[in-house]
Amino acid sequence: ASAALVFGITACEGGGAGSDGPDTDAAPEEMTVGVAMPTQTYERWLNDGRAVQEGLEDLGYNVDLQYADDDIPTQSQQIDQMITQEVDALIIASIDGSALSAQLDAAASAGIPVIAYDRLLTNSENVDFYVTFDNYEVGVNQANALLYGLGILDENFEEADDAPEGPLNIELFAGSLDDNNAHFFWDGAMDTLEPYMEDGTLEVPSGQTSIEQAATQRWEQETAQSRMENLLTTHYSGNEELHGVLAPADPLSRGIIQALRNDGWGDTIEDGLPVVTGQDAEIATVSLIAEGVQHSTIFKDTRLLAEQAVNAADSYLTGEEPEANNTEDYDNGEKVVPSYLLDVNMVLQDNYEEILVDSGYYTEEQVDSGQ
Ligand code: BGC
Repeated sequence: ASAALVFGITACEGGGAGSDGPDTDAAPEEMTVGVAMPTQTYERWLNDGRAVQEGLEDLGYNVDLQYADDDIPTQSQQIDQMITQEVDALIIASIDGSALSAQLDAAASAGIPVIAYDRLLTNSENVDFYVTFDNYEVGVNQANALLYGLGILDENFEEADDAPEGPLNIELFAGSLDDNNAHFFWDGAMDTLEPYMEDGTLEVPSGQTSIEQAATQRWEQETAQSRMENLLTTHYSGNEELHGVLAPADPLSRGIIQALRNDGWGDTIEDGLPVVTGQDAEIATVSLIAEGVQHSTIFKDTRLLAEQAVNAADSYLTGEEPEANNTEDYDNGEKVVPSYLLDVNMVLQDNYEEILVDSGYYTEEQVDSGQ
């Protein structure tokens, strides 16, 4: 009987997203958007969740916002439940972008449009739209910040006249391999660093130069800290110097800095701490940048990303197609997903006030207190 019932539903719903989809004549107050977020341990996802919820509620929609504690089965269940409760659209920031195919298939047969949020959903045709930042540019900016911090590039990001001869020693960290973004960040950074590794300006004393060796499972701070501790013990216990570390996200950067400080490399860059990069402009990190501890981060304005996600959901729910500004870069293995990409900004000690304080993103008090 249950098979017949399932068949009956599928048959009357017809061909998936597009052909029937949400009842676009319904008032927003009668519709609900399911919003699935990965974790509350990174400041950014809290901001994203809040901003998406507020944006949707401002338009009158109901919102079902769920965080999954970085646990894949939890996220799958949350989305299953949203589909059972007949949400009208889904916005998903995945933990493992390839682990939700069953949910995406179910959403498509129920006519629920799916928007991938920040991280691409892979290996499925049933992803309608993708809102994100220019992830390759994030990596390029991280590498350029590192090269600038090392004195190889000048403040215009051109070859510095007084560049050190080298070799300068660096170590490399990547994000979680199941996050499609981690590969874009890595590729952008490595395309930028490799020429300097090839001509001997930069060296990686550990020899760990593949993304698999550099990866940080689930983007966990403790994992990055303990890998840094191991690298220091194994490769830097003699007189070997370490000048810089490519780190892909602020919590990882803070773990790496902790390991370096504990190992006596100094409290600030001025007194010997290597140049460390980052991403997300978390408040605790911006404070460290102001104090000359962390060298850089990448600011991605999550308010603007939330706005794009809200616009895309609203388009589907009012019977329109959201507008993409990129239809070539994000191939998810089954199709190229139409995407909307936002710009990113490099943040350094000499521009954080302009980018983050003058713009009203943080107050000077927050930067002072790191909270
Ligand atoms: C996001 C980054 C974030 C990282 C860890 C990535 O997918 O794009 O902003 O730092 O995940 O949460």
